[in-house]
Amino acid sequence: MIRKALYTGSFDPLTNGHIDIITRAARFCDEVIVAIGVHPGKQPLFSPEERAELVRKSCEGLVAAQSCKLSVITFSGLAVTAAREAGANLILRGLRDGTDLDYELEMAGMNAVMAPDVQTVFLAASPGLRHIAATLVRQIALLGGDVSNFVPDVVARAIAAKTRSPQ
Ligand code: ADP
Repeated sequence: MIRKALYTGSFDPLTNGHIDIITRAARFCDEVIVAIGVHPGKQPLFSPEERAELVRKSCEGLVAAQSCKLSVITFSGLAVTAAREAGANLILRGLRDGTDLDYELEMAGMNAVMAPDVQTVFLAASPGLRHIAATLVRQIALLGGDVSNFVPDVVARAIAAKTRSPQ
């Protein structure tokens, strides 16, 4: 069976925690599709196109090294709709703590009813990376802090350029 996993999230910005999930999924998937959620009401740090480019730059080599294909898409509706449209049979999510677990179980349960053909797969966050949250990275960056321990170099440079430029 071909395993095509849709990994949904905001990825604003892509963090080392996200990359860990993507590369570990690449070991057992034929294709990982990073699906960047676009929420019109929210003011993001990076546009969806910028986020997609940062995902490609950071992950293409790592995923290819596992003989897996990487695709990056944006979506604004339901994850199950995006999964069906992309031909994915798996939805991939990372679990950091009990808060993630409660929310993710609810979502996986509802998605399973809406799309029984799409299976949610959870990967536990790696111990050294489970503290990383994109929301906090964004806040630290906007307050002038150093985020280089939490994101790949290419993202750190993009954040530096973004937070230096006039608003
Ligand atoms: P965040 O929750 O950090 O703001 P996203 O909304 O983009 O980021 O998260 C997308 C997915 O990635 C979710 O399944 C989330 O649990 C997972 N994830 C986020 N950060 C990590 C991490 N440090 N380790 C493992 N999974 C993570």
